[in-house]
Amino acid sequence: MTSSYFLSSLSARSFRESLLLALPALLFLFPMVRSLRAQTPTPAIKVDQVGYPLDGPKIAIVSTSAHSFQLKQSSDQRVVFQGNLSVPQADAATGDQVQAADFSSFRKPGTYYIEVAGVGRSWNFALARNPFERTYYLAMRGFYGQRCGTAVDMGPEFSRFTHPACHLHGEFHPSSGKSGVRDNIGGWHDAGDYGRYVVNSGISTGTLLWAWEIYGSKLKGIPLNIPETGNGTPDILSEARWNLEWMLSMQDEDGGVWHKQTSESFPGMIALQDDKLPSEVIGTGSAPYKSTCATADLAAVAAIAARVYKPFDQKFAEQNLAAARRAWAWAEKNPNVTFTNPAGVNTGDYGDSNCSDEVLWAAAELNRTTGEPAFNTFFLKAYAQFLPVLDAPPAAGWNQLAPMALWTYALSHQKTKDAEAAEAIRKRTLAAAHVVVERTSSSPYRTSMKSTDYYWGSNGVAAGYGMYLLIASQFAPDPSFTNAARDNLHYLLGRNTFSLSWVTKVGENPFQHPHHRPSVATGEAWPGLLSGGPNAGREDAVLAAFPKDLPPAKVYADQMASYASNEIAINWQAALVFLLAGELH
Ligand SMILES: [Zn+2]
Repeated sequence: MTSSYFLSSLSARSFRESLLLALPALLFLFPMVRSLRAQTPTPAIKVDQVGYPLDGPKIAIVSTSAHSFQLKQSSDQRVVFQGNLSVPQADAATGDQVQAADFSSFRKPGTYYIEVAGVGRSWNFALARNPFERTYYLAMRGFYGQRCGTAVDMGPEFSRFTHPACHLHGEFHPSSGKSGVRDNIGGWHDAGDYGRYVVNSGISTGTLLWAWEIYGSKLKGIPLNIPETGNGTPDILSEARWNLEWMLSMQDEDGGVWHKQTSESFPGMIALQDDKLPSEVIGTGSAPYKSTCATADLAAVAAIAARVYKPFDQKFAEQNLAAARRAWAWAEKNPNVTFTNPAGVNTGDYGDSNCSDEVLWAAAELNRTTGEPAFNTFFLKAYAQFLPVLDAPPAAGWNQLAPMALWTYALSHQKTKDAEAAEAIRKRTLAAAHVVVERTSSSPYRTSMKSTDYYWGSNGVAAGYGMYLLIASQFAPDPSFTNAARDNLHYLLGRNTFSLSWVTKVGENPFQHPHHRPSVATGEAWPGLLSGGPNAGREDAVLAAFPKDLPPAKVYADQMASYASNEIAINWQAALVFLLAGELH
């Protein structure tokens, strides 16, 4: 029975009067009504709203002055643990004065919250052996929701979230050096817009394939409920393949790869099926039309694919290796053809003035896959100049692939691997990781973030620190690396100054208004998507209007219009997936 049916059988006035008469009795009979009202969670107590593994550190952060805290079981409000808060620390990045509530020694699975007398209670969270599996599932399905060129249905648990097939027709833009139809159906929409970009696809798809290579044994048993589920290929590889096939379709006959496929300008904030702008294959505007960064990115990702798809689809693996070799040959001939938007095009340009790190990544992945001397020799001639990049974690980004190149060389099992080079990479990574661990454990909010890290996509920086630390633990297993990586995950899932989970539909208090056209069209945030996060660069009107002296970590708005702090994007989404995969049991 709906409430409107119930109301229609009474006059509104008599209903209200009877309710008022009954209220004192109700409150007397059900004191819980009052206590529940008093227990609205306060943002002053910050927890990972997903949870904490049973055997690791468990810390909540409190941003008002108090002495002690209680851990309470959510089902019956029973106190199961109590402790003192740490001494207050000033946090420069937020301007907050914070204290830590450490309940690491409590190890019973269940759902709990933190209560501080005079302050209030936190949102609920779980203590569990493997608390992040569902978040991994949702974050991977975030990619499925970004699929272009096919109907998408997020299933019964998110029944409002569907879209029909979009962008089924494409054509060559004059800047590509060709003309006519080129549909290239598929790929993921890059971010809040509907463009598809090879360069940002490079690190995103490569990171997911790495997650499989490193954590496959943990991931293979987690179905993602995507159309390919049950086809014999692990779901994370099926999802990555959706984008990889589009990347392969961007390769020209000469081996070069066009930079992007977008409309000439961003569409309005409309549903994807309403975007009727032509989807254009866009090139550099003059010969050779393809860009080196895009071509080398494809070479690297297709070389990884040749390894990881081999046990599941030999033919596809071979197709990837052939594409990688053709791309490599093109990049060798054209070592630094850079891209800036040609006249009349003003979608994101992912411009990068230096493609030598992308080329190094291609050489390193091709070496790891084939063991052929040419790739090894190329890598060994070039790698040393890139080593200093590792000194400044998180180091990797869509325009900085040197860390991926160096790490894949050191992680390779090829017999031709140069031991001295591998050791230099390993040592440098471990030294920097130890510095990050130190900073994380002494930081008031227990994050790896420096005050200068709050720029566009800062949540991707936090996830990137996590990835850096997890790679370090591949070189030298050390719980301090995985714990510090998890601290950054806690930051993203609610243990931050806003007490916001920055992944949509994850936790009890997730952000609500991503700069994301499908979410705007649906009227509700699509599930599993990571926000860009605080951005002291303030490159939009919402952030520009904030007070000038606001600390950097506070420069964030959960508003659709704040594209500089609340857009989603596949590159930081991939770093989140890698971090979650590393924190699974
Ligand atoms: Zn599309």
